[in-house]
This record gives sequence, structure tokens and C-alpha cells, in this order.
Amino acid sequence: MPERVRFAPSPTGPLHIGGVRTALFNFLYAKNNKGQFILRIEDTDQNRYVPASEEYIYKALNWMGLTIDEGPVEGGNFGPYRQSERKAIYAKHIKDLLDSGAAYYAFDSQDALQKERENAEKAGRVFQYDQHSRSRMSNSLNCSEKETAAHLKSGNYVIRLKIDAHEPFVVKDLLRGVITVDPSLLDDKILMKSDGMPTYHFANVVDDHLMEITTVIRGEEWLPSLPLHNLIYQAFGWSPPEFIHLPLILKPEGKGKLSKRDGITGGFPVFPMQWEELDGFKERGVLPDALRNYLLLLGWNSGGEQEIFSFDQMINSFGIEGLQKGGARFDFSKAVWMNEQYLQKMSHTEFRAAVNESLDVLEEIYDAKTIDQILNMIQPRVKLLSDVDKEIALFHTDPNSYDAKTLDKLRPKLPKEFLPWCMDQIKNGQIDDLKSAISEWGEKNNCNMGVLMQALRLALVGSLSGPDLIDIMNVLKKDVTLVRIDHFRISTNL
Ligand code: GLU
Repeated sequence: MPERVRFAPSPTGPLHIGGVRTALFNFLYAKNNKGQFILRIEDTDQNRYVPASEEYIYKALNWMGLTIDEGPVEGGNFGPYRQSERKAIYAKHIKDLLDSGAAYYAFDSQDALQKERENAEKAGRVFQYDQHSRSRMSNSLNCSEKETAAHLKSGNYVIRLKIDAHEPFVVKDLLRGVITVDPSLLDDKILMKSDGMPTYHFANVVDDHLMEITTVIRGEEWLPSLPLHNLIYQAFGWSPPEFIHLPLILKPEGKGKLSKRDGITGGFPVFPMQWEELDGFKERGVLPDALRNYLLLLGWNSGGEQEIFSFDQMINSFGIEGLQKGGARFDFSKAVWMNEQYLQKMSHTEFRAAVNESLDVLEEIYDAKTIDQILNMIQPRVKLLSDVDKEIALFHTDPNSYDAKTLDKLRPKLPKEFLPWCMDQIKNGQIDDLKSAISEWGEKNNCNMGVLMQALRLALVGSLSGPDLIDIMNVLKKDVTLVRIDHFRISTNL
């Protein structure tokens, strides 16, 4: 049977980076097994629904190159793929459970439940609506048919799963093995809410079964729900799919789950692309290929030294053997490093295409050949696409300030005659010969070559950063070079 896996986000906000990793691992697992990758939108929680999030999910998956085989937009034989459009399916299935006695109606008011909770708390216990407490509660197991009919007519009811497990039982996770469940911890979970919508648990199980999902791959936070999900499968008489619960993505410090707040306080992205006022990886200049590769290694490794994986290599290598159980620490600097690897191995044409948006300002000043020259100079220097604007600035804008610390250091060491001499040299000689001329001048005037070159760099760039100085001058040409040096000389009195 071909593998069918699904990514099942709830449209309650932007896709968090953990969600993108879940989508990626599902996609890789599907493709590795020549199976199908399905997108299901779990939008049954009306209160938490955020309208723009489904569009965001689509945009993010598309940017990441995770092609969906079946989904709300793509269609498929197992639709609809939006849970809000599957109400009739849940209604039929809940009826099956009610008819078989595996589920029952519960009529308890919020006040009555609250009172139970308080009483339990006073006695040092936690209230559970379960096989022990349900007999004293208000539900269709205890009420007469007439009372039940009256409650149902009023519409104030939920439907609960009747769990009568007495012995410990086991559930299985492909990554974590067999887990023994203590039945006393299980409560009669709500399957249908009073608004007539299914709960996550019920809709999720019904849909995974009807969509013929073979392996459920999701975050570790759903592991505690696994016993309940198994019991729902049992109640229907269905066999459950396989389960893999992926390790958590941890805060950079290593403790606790990574949150949106961590990104805000730490100054790093936690969303793939922009959401409201928060930049995502895309806006920070991370390539989708690099993000994919970075996420691949958050909880998975090949068992060898290899860290850089092409998309095809990922698909071919991915499997559960490489998954880790423990949490994976998020490290933005590793993502930046990964991005740098991808930028550095791009061909000139690829690099030019990737930075195209930043080139308008250069096109106003330079011909295509010079722009190519500039790109060749900056490519080895950029780690993020967002570095490009900063790197090219020196080629289109004269510096308007000079690094004060460097200036202070140079001032006592730089002979007054140097800059005027240098300007003459540039005016009358070849830029390419300048370095050796400066070296000679330095020796003659007893001045360190480093000091002279730093002064020149400060004049042209404003700081000590940037590509090779002679390359820069060759692009700027004599006129601009001279204007910059002269401006520097006058404004700093050097
Ligand atoms: N809708 C759930 C979520 O947003 C899906 C959990 C699952 O994959 O079963 O995470």
C-alpha cells in the first residue's frame, strides 16, 4: 500500500517554524516512500480561527517547495480537505458511536462541572469525567429516555467517548516504541462540542481513517493524545495508522519549547515568512533551500558527517532511523551558516537572480559588466540575502561618516603628505599599480603600509569593511575615487 501522510495545521495564526518542519518531514517521508503528501486544514475551532492563516500556510509551503498532492485547493479523492466542510461526515460517524454505545450525551452545565472540580480540589484530587464519576453526572447513561429527549431538544449537550479501560494498555510510536498507558488517567473526552462541531481529537481520527492515512507524523506535543486516539479507533473498530511524534524544537538556551516570544526577544525569526509586523526567514534573507536544509537537521541526521543536502538527497536519505527522540535546539546562527553555504555555492547567474531586487540602484550608475564585477566581489562576503543592500551601498553612495575609532587610531600615525600624494598618483598613474606605489612610499616615508591602506579604505568605504580596495577603485573609477579621498581629507583634516 502506498504511504499516505498528511500535514494538518489549524489555521489559528501563522505557521510556526516547528509546523514547517513537521510539513517538511511529512513531505520527505511521503516522497521517500513514493507516497502522497496531503494537506488538511483543521479549522473546527471557530474561536481561534484566523482568516489569513490558510493563505499563509499555502504561501509558506509553496515558498519551501513542498508540493501538495491532495488538499483544499488541489482537490483529491478523499475531500473535502477542510474540516469545516466535513460536518455531515462527523455527524454520521458520531451517530455510529452513539448507536453502538461507545459514546454518550452529557448534559452537565458549566456550573455543575465547576462544582465537581472544586470539590475534588478540596479533597486533594483532580476531577475527571470518567468511568468512576460519570454515574453521578447528568448524561444519557443515567437519565431517563424522556429526560434525555428534553435535553437533546434544548440543544445543550456534548457527546463524550465512553472509556471503560481497566487494565494498562499499550500504544505504539515508531520512534519511541511501545508506551504503556495507565487507564486511571483517561477521562471520557468530548468528541462533539455543544456548538455541534467535532473536537480536534474526533475529527482528526475520523479524517485520518477516511483519508487512508498510513503514517501520522506530528509534533511531540500530541503524544499525550495518542492513547485517546487509539481508543477512538478502537471504538469504531478501525485499525490505527502508524504514529511518529517528532521531537520538540527547543529554545536557543536548550530548555523549553521555542515560542514566538523567543524570536521577539532574541531578534531572530520563528516564522517562515512575514506575519504582521514580524519578519520571517524569507525577509531576513534566508533562501528556502537553506531553510529546508536547516530544518532537516533539527531532529534528524544521516548518521554520517554530511550536513548539506540537496532536495533530492534529502528525499532519498530521509527515514525514521535518523530521527532523534530528544528535543532539537534552535540556533539561528546555524541557519545563517547554512544559508552562507548555499549562497557561496551558487553560480554567478543564480546569485544574480537571487539578488535581482537589490540591483536597481546599481543599474542607474553602472553597465552590466561592472555590475557583474560588483556581484563577484560581494558574493563571497554575504551570509544572508539581506546583507546585499549593505554590501553594495559603497558602490552607489559616498560615505557620509567615518568610523571614529579607526580615525582616532590613524590620526597620529598618518603623514599629512600621504593623501595628496595618493590623489596625484591616482590622477596620473594606473589604479592597478597603486598598491606597490603605496608600499614604496611607505618605506621611503617610514610609515606602515597597513596604516596607509586603512586610511584609504576609510576614505572610500567609511569603515574597515568591504572587498579588496583596488577592486573597489576599479569599479568606482578615478573621478569618484578622487572625490571621496578629497572629501575625507578635508572633513577629517588628515
Ligand atoms: N491540527 C493539529 C495542529 O495544529 C494537528 C495535529 C496532528 O497532526 O494530529 O497541530
